[in-house]
Amino acid sequence: MFKKILIANRGEIACRVAATARRMGIQTVAVYSDADAGAKHVQACDEAVHVGGSAPKDSYLRWERILQAAKDTGAEAVHPGYGFLSENEEFAKACAAAGLVFIGPPASAILAMGLKAESKRLMESAGVPLVPGYHGADQNPALLQREADRIGYPALIKASAGGGGKGMRVVEKSKDFAAALASCQREAINSFGSDAVLIEKYVQRPRHIEIQVFGDTQGHCVYLFERDCSVQRRHQKVLEEAPAPGMTEALRAQMGAAAVAAAKAVNYVGAGTVEFIVEQTDYDQPESMKFFFMEMNTRLQVEHPVTEAITGLDLVEWQLRVASGEPLPLRQNQLRIQGHAIEARICAENPDNNFLPATGTLRVYRKPQASSFERSTVRIDDGVREGDTISPFYDSMVAKLIVHGDTREQALARLDTALAQTHIVGLNTNVQFLRHVVRSDAFATAQLDTALIQRESAVLFNQDPVGLQTAAAAVIAYELRAEAGAQGADPFSRRDGWQSHGTTRRRFELEYSGQPVRAVLTYGPQLRLQVGEGAEADLQYTPQGDGLWVQFNGRRIHSTVCAQGDASDGLCHVFTPQGAARISVLNPLAHAGEVAQEGGRLTAPMPGKVVSFAVKAGDKVKAGQALAVMEAMKMEHTIQAPQDGTVAELLYAPGDQVPEGAELLKLH
Ligand code: ADP
Ligand code: ADP
Ligand code: MG
Repeated sequence: MFKKILIANRGEIACRVAATARRMGIQTVAVYSDADAGAKHVQACDEAVHVGGSAPKDSYLRWERILQAAKDTGAEAVHPGYGFLSENEEFAKACAAAGLVFIGPPASAILAMGLKAESKRLMESAGVPLVPGYHGADQNPALLQREADRIGYPALIKASAGGGGKGMRVVEKSKDFAAALASCQREAINSFGSDAVLIEKYVQRPRHIEIQVFGDTQGHCVYLFERDCSVQRRHQKVLEEAPAPGMTEALRAQMGAAAVAAAKAVNYVGAGTVEFIVEQTDYDQPESMKFFFMEMNTRLQVEHPVTEAITGLDLVEWQLRVASGEPLPLRQNQLRIQGHAIEARICAENPDNNFLPATGTLRVYRKPQASSFERSTVRIDDGVREGDTISPFYDSMVAKLIVHGDTREQALARLDTALAQTHIVGLNTNVQFLRHVVRSDAFATAQLDTALIQRESAVLFNQDPVGLQTAAAAVIAYELRAEAGAQGADPFSRRDGWQSHGTTRRRFELEYSGQPVRAVLTYGPQLRLQVGEGAEADLQYTPQGDGLWVQFNGRRIHSTVCAQGDASDGLCHVFTPQGAARISVLNPLAHAGEVAQEGGRLTAPMPGKVVSFAVKAGDKVKAGQALAVMEAMKMEHTIQAPQDGTVAELLYAPGDQVPEGAELLKLH
């Protein structure tokens, strides 16, 4: 086994590889860009080498630099992770030339599978089923049009060198073909440096089901079952699960055999994924599932943890063993599926705005806590910590949440809970959107196909699972709690005191869903709250953990409230088990209460400090006129004259600390 490896990647995958290496007693070398100087993956490794500027082309794609770093640090092997150099055949060759082991397949296998069109020609001869289509070398536009017409519509044009969901166009009818082709080629040349395309029949009700394969240098190859990655947006995976719902033993064996045949056709070594597109005309009829080869990814996949969860294996460990020349640890008949696993990709993006990627700082980043007996059921793979930034240089994935359960239903419930416990403040993420997907009937009943998100858009986008009343009650309870903390006292332990000198009202100016809302809190024997046009009701709260139980309007909900960063705009995030909401508390100082009086005695409504008197003894005052300003609970409260009269005497001076209920001045 290797003593030291270099990890030529960043983020969660670099952390993931480092974790296994550490467990196996293998030293690790990180590489990092300017933007990643303080990144989690750098800390996760034993050594780190700076390899250049923030843009990938200036750092993570500079393979001469990376190889030099490997030599300088005495690493014996290079793990490329996914993305970046992982499917770069020249890099694999250069590693070998530099005397380093590339932890991945032979360069020849990367090359053979690198272009979708070439790999399909190869798969055709290996007897692997293909989607009806055209994958010839002749790229004459007129010929491509004829081929598309022959295949029929809808048809899919794909950049042969494409990846990551880019360079694809669905064409609905013949007359749209030419324009789609031109636009696909433009994107292909820009993104992949080649405008070669292939054409496929656009499979109806397509499901993306892929097979994890593993080969070793002794010529063995096994499949580690399937993953269903049908829930996608923009042809990119959002949720992945294993096993695939509705999969039969017979189909699994067929797909597994086809995937192994594909791998063997290119003398595959290491971890790889054979992606199939599956046509299922009837959800209730697994026999109606037909599978076709799409492409092979010659690397570890983002979603490999679901396979790890159902097999109990560590695929990075397998990669390291195979790369160091060991045989595969297990044979096909020793592999078993246990339970069900689902992964959710948590991304910095705005689902309600066409999944526009977002950048920003993770001001709050709280992850679900796995309790000890649940240790292995919730896993979080990430490459960031609270305070880190999601920069525009790299992809938008923040974390992967992986859950495992005995059944799909249990895994789903765990995922829902884990997502509820994932609190991110500072940038837009898809966490709430993921919850809507997980809770949708379509996903729960596994009506899976790649159009699920589009089809269910009515229940997935622009949802408000919390609601104004709960959000407002939570944010006000938090404010009160914070004030009580600042005062070193909890006003509710002194409810009687409040009662004895009348009522105090406070107004809260809120903003919810872009609308201004006023809430009025009344202090009395009970706290009473009215939000907007809603009915006034008791408000109660009880601290628990870093959250509060908030009871309002007959509902008792556990909530956590976080202010967004500097909070100058008063934006708060309310997290409840039902979901999250944003609510702004505008200008907190405007909360100044109309302080009460009792039978001519003007008393301090709460313990605090006298800031100033607006009047002096002998002044004549009118009802409602400001008499004094008190500061309590970080807030100023103006005390007004309850009726016309004359100030007889001021009983305190500005700056004095006064107890609750103390008479401040005498008015006749
Ligand atoms: P997968 O099925 O494993 O998600 P993709 O083809 O979608 O396969 O891409 C693999 C991953 O590699 C992407 O999710 C992305 O995070 C990463 N990736 C690809 N290209 C880049 C890049 N240029 N920079 C950073 N990450 C990349
Ligand atoms: P990439 O290299 O970008 O991952 P793929 O060929 O794997 O490209 O396709 C990405 C996604 O596009 C698939 O997961 C699937 O959702 C969709 N797709 C690809 N081919 C077809 C097809 N022939 N019919 C329907 N959907 C397809
Ligand atoms: Mg793919």
